[in-house]
Amino acid sequence: MAVVRLVRGMRDLLPEEARRWRALEERIVQVLDGFAYEEVRLPLQEMTELFARSVGAAATDIVEKEMYSLIDRDGSSLSLRPEGTASCARALLESGLLRNQAQRVFYRGPMFRHERPQKGRFRQFHQIGVEAFGPPGPDVDAELIQMGTEIWRALDLSGEIQLELNTLGAPAARAAWRDALATHLRPHRAALDADSARRLDRNPLRILDSKLPATQALLADAPSFDDYIDDESAAHFAALKGLLDGLGIAYVLNPRLVRGLDYYGRTVFEWTTQRLGAQGTVCAGGRYDGLVETIGGKPTAAAGFALGLERVAMLRLALAEAAPASAVDVYCCVLEPRRQGVVLAAVQRLRNGLPGLRFRVHAGGGSLKSQLKRANQCGARWALLFGEDELRDNRVTFKDLRSGAPQQALTAQAVIERLVGEAA
Ligand code: ATP
Ligand code: MG
Repeated sequence: MAVVRLVRGMRDLLPEEARRWRALEERIVQVLDGFAYEEVRLPLQEMTELFARSVGAAATDIVEKEMYSLIDRDGSSLSLRPEGTASCARALLESGLLRNQAQRVFYRGPMFRHERPQKGRFRQFHQIGVEAFGPPGPDVDAELIQMGTEIWRALDLSGEIQLELNTLGAPAARAAWRDALATHLRPHRAALDADSARRLDRNPLRILDSKLPATQALLADAPSFDDYIDDESAAHFAALKGLLDGLGIAYVLNPRLVRGLDYYGRTVFEWTTQRLGAQGTVCAGGRYDGLVETIGGKPTAAAGFALGLERVAMLRLALAEAAPASAVDVYCCVLEPRRQGVVLAAVQRLRNGLPGLRFRVHAGGGSLKSQLKRANQCGARWALLFGEDELRDNRVTFKDLRSGAPQQALTAQAVIERLVGEAA
């Protein structure tokens, strides 16, 4: 008999991968715990109407063609959740937790969208998402972005991911801009790709998101939102940028950044990477003050983001594979063989101060050049050079082998501090 196979667009996580995922999720959740966000666990199925009203208010691809829906025995239409935000808002609203209260929560688990499977795009995929209901100000937006930044730091991904930021303003300003954009594009309908042509009438802002060069060319002289933004949203955005600057969080302003969903307004952001090809967005979020009302609640300010675990896991794996295998962290070069004993003792003091780091002391003499070659071969990240001058001054020359930063003569204490900081 033929073997029964996995459903297209789904994935099994077998032990090795499941182990990596567990560590990944634990690190992320640790960061969320540190921000005192609380977990909620929500069902995988919801009434289709929940998504039709919230996600589908903008006639999105998700509701139009990506949802897994079924008719239940009593005739009601149910759908596997394509995202977590609407469910989260529904659950908190329904249980009275949004009544005059702020809530900061996170969720995790599988989401389902009937998309064309490809690298980084699946039909069952996993998100961890956070949502803050209540406070309307840029302080919450900044906290969310800070939290994302800390997640990338905890996962050693900071160097690979960049933050893109934009504002979509208040509904009226956005509507005026949307109309201007549609008016600008309508004469060029024939030159648009099929998806963009369809969006022209229903959700023209999404056209900005198109990756196609021909469509992007038509957008070059499109109306800019700068000419439409309302004063309050402009002030909100300026305050957010001020907070991020104060936190030292770098961002790139991307006026083309829009979210597919109509309930977003004001702040929108994405973290993207160059390493995953076309599926380079690892995390996306923003402010969606309109959502709770569309599902029957009172107007409630809200903001959040969701990260795609498959993409984050792929990125971590790509980096681990690209990194040279490393047997050693710190390679200690001995430039004065007569003083080998002094070096051995000095390195032992460093080892004692830095448990967890692997120090290898060069043996067998040879030129500095040949010793540094050995350091690189064993994948060391740093080298310490013990020469006559250094030993006389109770110092050591510190060399970062990866960054190529200028070398420095440091005391043992300074070396320890430096390594503690850089290895963190
Ligand atoms: P995309 O433009 O890649 O389709 P999206 O705008 O549909 O993304 P969101 O709904 O904002 O994505 O979901 C947040 C994150 O979830 C994305 O940034 C991505 O990392 C992940 N994600 C979304 N759809 C998929 C999918 N089909 N497979 C894997 N991950 C996904
Ligand atoms: Mg999508």
